[in-house]
Amino acid sequence: MLPDFRVRQRDFLLEISRAMTAQLDLEEVLRLVLKASIIMLGGEVGLVALRASNDRYAIRATIGVDAERVPDLNTRLDELVSNAGQSIDRDFLNVKLKQMAVSLNRKLRQSLFLPLLIAGEPVGLLIIFRSQTLETTENEFQILQSFADQAAIAVHNAQLYARIDQERQRLAALVEYSADGVMFLDSNLRILGFNRALERMTGWSVQDALGQDQDTVISWKKLEKNDLRAALDDGWPWRLPSDAPAETLYVEGDLLRRDGLTLSIGITYAPLLGEDQKLVNIIANVRDITHFRRAQEMQNVFISTISHELKTPVALIKGYAGTLRRDDAEWDPQVIRDGLAVIEDESDRLTGLIENLLAASKLRAERMRLDISDVWLDKLAAQVVERFQTQTQKHTLQLDFPSDFPFVQGDEIRLRQVLDNLVSNALKYSPEGGIITVGGEVDDKSVTIFVHDSGVGISETDQEHIFDRFFRVDGTLSRKTQGTGLGLYLAKAIIEAHGGTIRVQSKPGTGSTFYFTVPL
Ligand code: ADP
Repeated sequence: MLPDFRVRQRDFLLEISRAMTAQLDLEEVLRLVLKASIIMLGGEVGLVALRASNDRYAIRATIGVDAERVPDLNTRLDELVSNAGQSIDRDFLNVKLKQMAVSLNRKLRQSLFLPLLIAGEPVGLLIIFRSQTLETTENEFQILQSFADQAAIAVHNAQLYARIDQERQRLAALVEYSADGVMFLDSNLRILGFNRALERMTGWSVQDALGQDQDTVISWKKLEKNDLRAALDDGWPWRLPSDAPAETLYVEGDLLRRDGLTLSIGITYAPLLGEDQKLVNIIANVRDITHFRRAQEMQNVFISTISHELKTPVALIKGYAGTLRRDDAEWDPQVIRDGLAVIEDESDRLTGLIENLLAASKLRAERMRLDISDVWLDKLAAQVVERFQTQTQKHTLQLDFPSDFPFVQGDEIRLRQVLDNLVSNALKYSPEGGIITVGGEVDDKSVTIFVHDSGVGISETDQEHIFDRFFRVDGTLSRKTQGTGLGLYLAKAIIEAHGGTIRVQSKPGTGSTFYFTVPL
């Protein structure tokens, strides 16, 4: 040992102790430990390895070692540690350390190996090499070990801090990138934290929102459920029974954004209580409920449309049945036939409607199944056109197919349903009458069928939605016309099940053309 070893040892022990308390950056702690050890032991080369898993160590800091030597040293370290087992055999250790020293520098003669232990558990190890050979007494070894223990604590603290810091960063990222808005408030409702999603929802930037009163940022145009201020006045957070966790508060309404637009949101306020059970912080989770509201609205519209659609045929059936069975009337056979024909037609309409509803609800759960055979779409179109022509005098229906139009593989009943729907829509949405053309085109891969009308047309915004379930264009004509908003949704599902596509081209006031393509 060097003559002034004890003095330096004391100084460095002190330095490491200071590092332990002052420095929480792991890299810095390791560097300090290594530097102190090298000076204290008169070494030239040193390394610190930390335990990475059960019996693996990874070098985390070095002095006097080229970076490219580290992988090789790691392998040697692995051999040393895995063969050493729990009780380290000094002779074996010495051989391995000597090999390690030689591999680094021929001049290195002596190696000192110190495990870093916390409560007997290894957290790392420290190896110092030196070129001079010095005797180490048992007493000096003990002092060295106590130095290593101090270093181990410093390393362990820094590791714990790094882990906590990583956890903190993970949590911060979770909040920052959460799709829901997240906000932290103090007990006076001042905003302490505000994430990106909330920037988008409120139109307030983080910088502007921080430090504001939450009522400035969350300004309600219409409050529909609960009120944070009122709840606080009422003693929220409530705890019933008194040892239960404090209750969250749900507030819902239309938010007035900073740019003047409105957004439907729901906020869940969760209280954080201090030791004295007083409110310290509030965590607010903000959710955009526009979709939910729209779905609710659609459901309401759907229920009223369906009820209306069901009521009309039922009223007709009941009316005719009641009239025909009157005891006080003697009906002409033709009147009876006409009445029964109405009852039959209306029953068919009811059946069709119910089938569509069932098909639409089934489509949510599974893909549509097809019953495939050869289908001549030009012939199918001719039948559909002929049938619809008998129902209208205002419209002229015509066909436009090239001769020898090819057949496709498809489900005839389903494809007829698509044609029925497109032609029926063409009639319904051209109240002034006009020409309706059903035609077809062929290329080498597929056939395309089109249905053209010169009716009311569809705006570009509505075109994006007409194939959605239950969607109907909001307008006087739609309100007057029977329909459920299921026809095009089902048509699209049928065509897609055939591996085809469906689209529309339309201009309001001019008319619409629907195209669908089915592969050959
Ligand atoms: P509906 O039962 O309401 O007719 P569809 O799914 O068949 O339902 O059509 C959805 C909506 O698309 C209709 O309500 C209508 O507003 C619009 N639409 C469909 N076809 C046409 C067309 N040929 N011309 C104008 N609007 C149409």
